[in-house]
Amino acid sequence: MSDSKKNAEEKALSGLKKKATPLLPQQYVDGILKGDRNLLSQAITLIESTNAAHRIIAEEIINLALPHSGKSIRIGITGVPGVGKSSLIETFGTYLTSIDKKVAVLAIDPTSPLSKGSILGDKTRMENLSVNPNAFIRPSAAADSLGGVARKTREAMLLCEAAGFDIIIIETVGVGQSETAVHRMTDFFMLLMLAGAGDQLQGIKRGIMELCDALFITKADGDNLKNVTRAKADYISALHFYPPKPSGWIPKVDACSSLDGSGMDKIWDVVNQHHEWLTNRGMLEQIRLEQDLEWMQETLRDKVLDSFYADAQYRENLIRLEKQIREKQITPFKAAEELFELGRN
Ligand code: GDP
Repeated sequence: MSDSKKNAEEKALSGLKKKATPLLPQQYVDGILKGDRNLLSQAITLIESTNAAHRIIAEEIINLALPHSGKSIRIGITGVPGVGKSSLIETFGTYLTSIDKKVAVLAIDPTSPLSKGSILGDKTRMENLSVNPNAFIRPSAAADSLGGVARKTREAMLLCEAAGFDIIIIETVGVGQSETAVHRMTDFFMLLMLAGAGDQLQGIKRGIMELCDALFITKADGDNLKNVTRAKADYISALHFYPPKPSGWIPKVDACSSLDGSGMDKIWDVVNQHHEWLTNRGMLEQIRLEQDLEWMQETLRDKVLDSFYADAQYRENLIRLEKQIREKQITPFKAAEELFELGRN
């Protein structure tokens, strides 16, 4: 082999080694605690990686960062596509930075294997916020299940908190599936609605209305303003039909415009009122604790399933039993029982 070829190979190999050998978990955490965005991004990439070695490092990073997390206000934002979520996050996020808050924006997009990050990562959608030194925007992780995407977003949120972000905004990007996942990882859940369109038209499920702590009517500007007062009254009365929240909080209804910036202070006001409401009643900790317990259950379920699927023989049996179900030779319950026994052995 010629010297130059050998040199090139050695260089490529050392590059590969560098790439393949991430820092020690403590080094990532030290960087994150100092607010190093590069290391924060790299650590989130490890969380998102499907590589088993990366996963081990990511888990250690999360463990080390955990005692430094939990100090932010966690806001979930949902609404049908086109309602104005990303415009609102751009304007509201910029407003928050103007009052000296550090904002991290994360997303849950269960459809992301197809659109992988393109939606929120698209700079034109959050042009100002994406270059704001006090904001950090990360597109949705990709995974083959909503649970997987949600877990990765939740872990990224914990690291952002350790990095000192005061407000974490989590946006639902996909349609109609990710709302409950976002609700289960946030303190304050905000539903965006349009004025002058019925609920059916807006495709909002009843269950989502029930979850919200605030409902904001978007695009309250120009000609649309005349519909806002009526829409506000309609939504206030619609929300009366839902059972009260365990904390006793009554969801607030108001309007805002990302175009002219009106109502951003109202959103911030409601977020703070709600935060105080929960904190004064000792409920914030309780809600987060319940969320943690749910996450433990879900992670356990995923791990049990993953360990089953990792076994080649198990997968073969799965295919065999699926075929038998199709041919009506076995009931789905019996097949599941058989698979469970096989997975346990
Ligand atoms: P998303 O799909 O929910 O993220 O919605 P977008 O933020 O992408 O907004 C959808 C469309 O509504 C875009 O064409 C925006 O320019 C427009 N839009 C968003 N917010 C406002 C607003 O406050 N006022 C008006 N007039 N248009 C808005």
